[in-house]
Amino acid sequence: MLFLTAGHHKKDAGATYNGRKEADETVRLRNAIARLLTDKGLKVWTDADDWDLNRTINEITKRSKPDDIICDLHFNAGAATASGCEVFVADNANAAELNLATELVNTIASTLLIRNRGVKKEHDSQHKRLGMMRPAGRNVLIEICFLSNNYDRQQYDTFFGLLAEGIARVLAQKIE
Ligand SMILES: [Zn+2]
Repeated sequence: MLFLTAGHHKKDAGATYNGRKEADETVRLRNAIARLLTDKGLKVWTDADDWDLNRTINEITKRSKPDDIICDLHFNAGAATASGCEVFVADNANAAELNLATELVNTIASTLLIRNRGVKKEHDSQHKRLGMMRPAGRNVLIEICFLSNNYDRQQYDTFFGLLAEGIARVLAQKIE
C-alpha cells in the first residue's frame, strides 16, 4: 500500500511566499499523483484535508506495514538564494528507504532542472525528528523545491504535470 500525504493543513499553512501556501501546493500535488496512480489501477491511501499532522500519523500507524511506502509531500522556503529538492529519511533508514529517497530526489531534480540537494537524515531537518518517520513502512518526506526561490517556483509551475508523472512512476515501481 502507498500512503501519500499532503504536508501541513488548513490551520498550519507551512511555508508561504507571495500568497503561495505550502499547504495548498501539497494538496494539489498529492491529488495529481494519486489520480495518476489510481488511473493505473493502483490503490493509494491519502490523508483528508481537515486532518492535522497528529491525526494523519495516527491513521497511518493503525494501517501501515513494513513493506508499505509512506510519502509525505512538502515545499521549502528560505533565503531567496536557497533552492533545490531534498528528500528526508529516518536517521536509521534502511537500504530500501535510501534507495527510494535517492530515486525520488534524482527524478524531481532532473524533471524540474533544479539543484539536487540529495537525501538527508531527519536530524538534519529543522525539527530534528519527523513524526512521519515513525509509522511502520518505507518513510520518505519530500521537500519538492523552494517556493521562495523565483527559479524553483517557475520550474515547478512550468513542469507540474511532468513532476507528478515522475513521482508517480517512481512510487509505482517501488510499491510493486
Ligand atoms: Zn513543510
